[in-house]
Amino acid sequence: LPAFDPMDPAGIDDLLSADELAVRDSVRHLCAERVDPYVADWFERGEIPDIRGLTKELGALGVLGMHLEGYGCAGMSATEYGLACLELEATDSGLRSLVSVQGSLAMFAIWRWGSEDQKQTWLPRMAAGDAIGCFGLTEPDQGSDPGGMRTRARQDAGGDWILDGRKMWITNAPVADVAVVWAQTSDNPADIRGFVVPTSTSGFSAPEIKHKLSLRASVTGEIVLDGVRLPADAVLPEVTGLKGPLSCLNEARYGIVWGAMGAARSAFASALSYAGEREQFGRPISGFQLTQEKLANMAVEYAKGVMLALHLGRRKDAGRLRPEQVSIGKLNNVREALEICRTARTILGANGISLEYPVIRHMNNLESVLTYEGTTEMHTLVLGQALTGQPAFR
Ligand code: FAD
Repeated sequence: LPAFDPMDPAGIDDLLSADELAVRDSVRHLCAERVDPYVADWFERGEIPDIRGLTKELGALGVLGMHLEGYGCAGMSATEYGLACLELEATDSGLRSLVSVQGSLAMFAIWRWGSEDQKQTWLPRMAAGDAIGCFGLTEPDQGSDPGGMRTRARQDAGGDWILDGRKMWITNAPVADVAVVWAQTSDNPADIRGFVVPTSTSGFSAPEIKHKLSLRASVTGEIVLDGVRLPADAVLPEVTGLKGPLSCLNEARYGIVWGAMGAARSAFASALSYAGEREQFGRPISGFQLTQEKLANMAVEYAKGVMLALHLGRRKDAGRLRPEQVSIGKLNNVREALEICRTARTILGANGISLEYPVIRHMNNLESVLTYEGTTEMHTLVLGQALTGQPAFR
């Protein structure tokens, strides 16, 4: 029998191909060299120094828009993309957020719904990490219910679009070169359109949101649109309505299903090693049954979460993944990852609250992950509707 591996307690690696393992190793290597030694400091300072250099390195590795085909993208499988997300988030949810927003939100929106010209202009630069993208859907007064958004786009007599409004909680906005912004184009809520907005356009600003106690190694901003004038061809031509942004969110949520398990793995590894070294009452705390129960439950939930992620990844690669199934993954894996981090926190005792260990950083990060890309409550309602046929959103 193969040896028992605490970091792969159910032996799920056996289900991965050599190519998949190679992708995982290359991302793990970059994280270990370039981010792991510094990320606690970035978190403490609330910034990613040299975010442009880091984004270029991620681009060189091929992880930006890695599951998209053409336009300089790596064209890898959904499963490979998921494995990359797990490694990135084992380092920090902020790093995974950077990659998710770039690839699954901003690039995917242009790749799926953009014109040939928009794709040629932006995707190769974004895949290489030469241009950073952001995705503006949420507003100060519209979060879970984006259909009521107030940001407006109107067309003048010459065909130019003029955008006015505010977006809130937008990852990467203060450092972005391009923003995909969703706006209402009439009084009919069905007329939401997406716009490709170079952030250098007059009237566009993106002040940073400070004082976050979660995802501190990630830049978050508002977007203020004050009479932003864009050419007629700035609109994403291939989609109208909420289907546009929701299709992108579905992509990013899929990455979170994997990513959350990365945060869990890191916290679990930290707790397991700490429990073996820390002695109280004359023996390692790992020898106490109560600690073993915690570790056993963490291992079980971690294995189940990775198995679910892999199953959903295989379905996605087969073109059979439904949005409700992504909701199952996001709901379960973020919830369980958070529980694993909280339990790990108790095993580390007082050290559990220190940035000297990764545990509380992951735990705090996951509070954001629980809320963004559809809150736990929203995914519960999605499943509630799928199960009963009765929408309970309003
Ligand atoms: P609300 O929608 O106001 O919800 C508040 C609470 O009420 C939640 O618990 C919610 O589940 C609950 N609730 C709401 N409606 C119902 C209902 N019908 N039934 C039961 N409960 C309900 N957005 C972007 O567009 N782009 C980004 O890049 C981005 N990055 C983010 C980064 C961070 C760090 C964070 C924290 C958020 C980010 N967001 C981004 C915003 C995120 O998507 C929203 O916060 C999320 O959609 C929830 O919206 P809200 O915060 O306004 O909460």
